[in-house]
Amino acid sequence: MTISNEIRDMVRGRAGFACEYCGVSEVDSGGMLTVDHFKPLSKGGMNALFNLIYCCFKCNLFKHQFFNDNNEGPHLWNPREGLYFKHFLPLENGRLQGLTDTGEFTVSLLNLNRPQLIAHRFRKFQRIKEKRLLEDYQNYFELINKVLPSLGNADEEMHRLRKTNLELLKIILSKS
Ligand SMILES: [Zn+2]
Repeated sequence: MTISNEIRDMVRGRAGFACEYCGVSEVDSGGMLTVDHFKPLSKGGMNALFNLIYCCFKCNLFKHQFFNDNNEGPHLWNPREGLYFKHFLPLENGRLQGLTDTGEFTVSLLNLNRPQLIAHRFRKFQRIKEKRLLEDYQNYFELINKVLPSLGNADEEMHRLRKTNLELLKIILSKS
């Protein structure tokens, strides 16, 4: 059973137009992504919104027909259940660290440390760092602009004091 355009658009919007597993967006990949059934139709899954995951072609391919119906064995992380940061830790070098059994299994099954994803995450971190650096510079210049006028006055004051000292010195010298 195919998914209607209306449902597809709802799933896309809910996912923020990005793969719910790896985070790659439609813009990054240059096109629409795929809609996956978390519980495959072949295993009794439904077309209901809670069972639909927006994901990139690669994640969909690696996930394939995986579904663990019992409580034993590894579990794939379900984006519908949220708690991303309970299961995953994105590292500054771009790698994704699984924090739980589910996290580790998901990283392994979906190959979430494929080189292109590492590069993608690394670039994201760099952009955040550059943004922070730029904000730091802006704050620094704002501070300098605030402090400069008072520094100017202090400088004038120092100059006046130096001049007074010099005049006093001349008077003392002339009297000795
Ligand atoms: Zn993906």
